[in-house]
Amino acid sequence: MIDKSRYDEKKPLDMHNLQFDVAAERLNLTPWIADKIKYSRREFIVRFPLRYDDGRTELLTGFRVQHNTLRGPAKGGIRYHPSVDLDEVRALAGWMTWKCAVVSIPYGGAKGGVCCDPSLLTQSELERLTRRYTWEISPIIGPEQDIPAPDVGTNPQVMAWIVDTYSVFKGYTCPSVVTGKPVAIGGSLGRLKATSQGVVYVLQEAAKILGLDLTQAKAVIQGYGNVGYYAAELLEQMGVRVIAVSDVKGGIYNENGLNTAKVYAHCQKNRSVVDYPEADNITNAELLELPCDILVPAAMEGQINRLNADKIKAKVVVEGANGPTSPFADEILYDKGIFVVPDILANAGGVTVSYFEWVQNVQKLFWTEEAINTQLHQIMTRSFHEVHDICLKENVNMRTAAYMLAIGRVAEAKRLRGIFP
Ligand code: NAD
Repeated sequence: MIDKSRYDEKKPLDMHNLQFDVAAERLNLTPWIADKIKYSRREFIVRFPLRYDDGRTELLTGFRVQHNTLRGPAKGGIRYHPSVDLDEVRALAGWMTWKCAVVSIPYGGAKGGVCCDPSLLTQSELERLTRRYTWEISPIIGPEQDIPAPDVGTNPQVMAWIVDTYSVFKGYTCPSVVTGKPVAIGGSLGRLKATSQGVVYVLQEAAKILGLDLTQAKAVIQGYGNVGYYAAELLEQMGVRVIAVSDVKGGIYNENGLNTAKVYAHCQKNRSVVDYPEADNITNAELLELPCDILVPAAMEGQINRLNADKIKAKVVVEGANGPTSPFADEILYDKGIFVVPDILANAGGVTVSYFEWVQNVQKLFWTEEAINTQLHQIMTRSFHEVHDICLKENVNMRTAAYMLAIGRVAEAKRLRGIFP
């Protein structure tokens, strides 16, 4: 029996480990295999100076954690955020392993990050930081080894600098070292919206199960970056009323629905959704507790926890973010009958189209956006039902079902590959 009191829900790594333990216990894994796949395989810490435009120099710390490579190269984003530390990166790397296994793409899991506040950096500082961090982690990244991508605080431009820096040292252009690049240098059509598109595809399946008519539904979205903004836009296009959105500075609410493109324009101009003229300002805490049908957390970890879980009123929570719901909150939501589509399934559309991008780079053959979205739809829908079938058969929530599917696949890879030497 797992002693849950040992886990702190505010720590992403504790969340990851508890989610793993709950599912692994049900799978009756060989103990050494369970330990081998629970913990990260390789952890790389780098310290490097950043010279600011005003002449100051500061030492920064960055990380790259390769959690698992049993099913293929390590894969996962790079985060620039003040909260980045080794434990957060370990958790995010672990979640990538399970995500790639849930949707059955041939990758392991990794994550990287630099502890910094990118909103305080100029473009040239951001570029210098990126190039130096890339050089620092270059011994362990590569198209067949470990393939980074964007995450919080990074974007296609940052990926372009990584391609350039890596290629300069290799001596030839190497686009397949990262995914999420601009299309002009080998990025994939559909990648920018892919995570949100995947969120929408699994929401459509959940809605069928719940008998929820999406054209009559109200949605609330936390976070208005890559995942949150495109989720809002796609939902609005489907006829869902997006009544509230937020970012790190706060949220906005209009019961009649927001025009997502106008909110985006306001956000570009003012660096926040706050004070959008056609809505009321609310806090992030208030936003999560609004009466609605669909809640899409698309910001940071631990937003739904034991302090606010019983106040969540949505019928379905689709986790665009990684780790937004603590395991303790999960139990509360389950008891309230709220259907949670867990992160490792719900936001796997991003890494799935990243995989398509990498395949296109390796083949030097490019697909249409229609072909990308058709295949993404197939993978997300199939994975949703594989997880839901386990959920019904084993009488567990969707998260534990997703972990059982993923851990089972990674454990089988370990069993078959055996031990060296
Ligand atoms: P982003 O940097 O583009 O946007 C993050 C958004 O969250 C911003 O609007 C920011 O202001 C807001 N935010 C940050 N801290 C917040 C807080 N404490 N409260 C409320 N809002 C806050 O990042 P993104 O790429 O959209 O990633 C968002 C989440 O989705 C992360 O958990 C990330 O790991 C996850 N994710 C991203 C991708 C991807 O393809 N980008 C794929 C899978 C999962």
